[in-house]
Amino acid sequence: MVSEHVGFLTTRVKVGVLADGDRCILVDSGLDSGTAKKILSFLGREGYSVVGVINTHSHADHCGGSSYIKGRTGAKVYASALEAAIIENPSLEPIYFAGGANPPQELRNKFMMGEACKVDQIIEEGKLEAYPLQVDVISLPGHSPQQIGVLAENTFFCADSVFPSEVLEKHRIIFLHNVHDALESLKRLTTVDCEYLLPSHGELLKRDELEKLVNLNRESIEMVEKTILENLDYPLEVCELVARVLNHYNLSIESYSDYHLFSSTIKAYLSYLQEKDLIEFKVKNNRSLVSKKPFLLEQ
Ligand SMILES: [Zn+2]
Repeated sequence: MVSEHVGFLTTRVKVGVLADGDRCILVDSGLDSGTAKKILSFLGREGYSVVGVINTHSHADHCGGSSYIKGRTGAKVYASALEAAIIENPSLEPIYFAGGANPPQELRNKFMMGEACKVDQIIEEGKLEAYPLQVDVISLPGHSPQQIGVLAENTFFCADSVFPSEVLEKHRIIFLHNVHDALESLKRLTTVDCEYLLPSHGELLKRDELEKLVNLNRESIEMVEKTILENLDYPLEVCELVARVLNHYNLSIESYSDYHLFSSTIKAYLSYLQEKDLIEFKVKNNRSLVSKKPFLLEQ
């Protein structure tokens, strides 16, 4: 336990446990029913019953266990509106990675698609009465469209808004949906009044360790932005740009779904660079091209 009522369990992601007497609420639920089963049996042995699950976002490693937990305990499930749409309809995730098309089998794995779970209450930034507790919900978009963090007592469960240095080093290009929002959420983290922070893929941090990590995450984002721009002096097809950026980072991707995670992230950077008026998109000779401004066709 981090404090009297707040603790966490380590699965593939950290799962928050907010307790009041013998009842508890979880922050996220793990990847799947197997993980959820282990969570419930551990908490059962410790004498807790689960009455709520607050989902930070709709990625399967965070919310895939919610359906099992709800089915076994009747726990009330919370999520923000857009994330709830995907938690309730998980096939939306492979659909958007397939660009809206009926997705191929390779995108329909359990890491792309958690088990569907009905969300009982849509949540937004602010105080949340999540029986039997009150917590603060803090909006942290960027990694996903409407990711939230949960502040309970002195601990801030900050989901995938910040990653430890080992994860930055391993993945090199961190998955993002919206680069501008991700940078704003990093700034936001530093304003939250807490003693500890728990990133879902890292260890418990003391508040004074945060700034260094936020800077590392910001620098990692700025480096990807710079790499993309350096490759866009002349128009390129987006898939060619993806290959060049992955090669620059010495990444050798062999999984079809991993490729789409990276490709989607690089497209998020392109939208961000367009918002900054640095690049433009054109279709020429039936090719979808992107280039730094001005868009020079001869090379
Ligand atoms: Zn995530």
